[in-house]
Amino acid sequence: MQPFAYARAASREGAVAAIAGRPGAVFLAGGTSLVDLMQLGVLRPEAVVDLNGLPEASIRVGPEGAWLGALARNSDVAAHAELRAAYPLLAEALLAGASPQLRHMATVGGNLMQRVRCPYYRDTAFACNRREPGTGCAAIGGCRRGHAVLGTSPHCIATHPSDMAVALAALEAEVEVQGPHGDRRVSFEDFYRLPGDTPHRATTLAPDELITGVWLPPLPFARRSGYLKVRDRASFDFALASAAAAVDWRDGVIHDVRLALGGVATRPWRAHAAERVLLGQPASPALFLRAADAELAAARPFEANAFKVPLARRTIARLLERLCGLGDAS
Ligand code: SF4
Repeated sequence: MQPFAYARAASREGAVAAIAGRPGAVFLAGGTSLVDLMQLGVLRPEAVVDLNGLPEASIRVGPEGAWLGALARNSDVAAHAELRAAYPLLAEALLAGASPQLRHMATVGGNLMQRVRCPYYRDTAFACNRREPGTGCAAIGGCRRGHAVLGTSPHCIATHPSDMAVALAALEAEVEVQGPHGDRRVSFEDFYRLPGDTPHRATTLAPDELITGVWLPPLPFARRSGYLKVRDRASFDFALASAAAAVDWRDGVIHDVRLALGGVATRPWRAHAAERVLLGQPASPALFLRAADAELAAARPFEANAFKVPLARRTIARLLERLCGLGDAS
């Protein structure tokens, strides 16, 4: 591991000041991703600013929505009784992610910033535009089974790894950040970038901005919501396909719906095309499959990951069947 300077921040302002003007400096929260990548030599920061002394771990839930502090641990968010009642899809997504040990350490802010799980990104022997801009993409001509089918570019096809972020995309969360010039809130839709020709820039966050928390707007029908994840290994693994949904389903009709996908796209993927098919329609398994087809029409798979298209289709339909009490889905 490359030597680095270490500083422990005592305030938000101090953290931002410690990183401002130092492109080689990074923030440390739970460290479950950063330390791993530093040990592999994938990330080589010259300075690490430790955030764990900041009072940013609060979780609040009320009629006006919910606030998740950036340093709230994933296990605390998943176990929060009021959050679980108001936004069950969030707890389900968190409990489907990683292992209990990792959830005890991982934070809300760190979860949002975790790097792609592409094996070529994690191995410095291979070309990777995301790790080293302009060097190429070893995955495109390599092993692509776990890679994305939506939102890809000729420069990167890596899948976004977060489960929590898929639930937040469905909930239209907002990310609050603090920079040298003050606070701002970024809609979830604007927070993550598609890879395009700059895959090394995964988010719209400036290098000297600090995530201070995530705001969840009120969404009463999210009480009927859930997260379904399909993976190779049930104990813990990244998603091959996943879906997060909240449904306003009354008298057999879908009055409103939010749907997002994971495991198949280069960013947490809000399924707007599927939502348009579902809105105002009588709920049925056939409708759910039509909605999934509308979203997945944009998929551009390779032979090795083509299975993800029918897998995501069935994942969407099965989750919606569960939420609308149809079929034998549990
Ligand atoms: Fe790097 Fe993206 Fe290609 Fe993976 S898919 S090797 S992360 S550029």
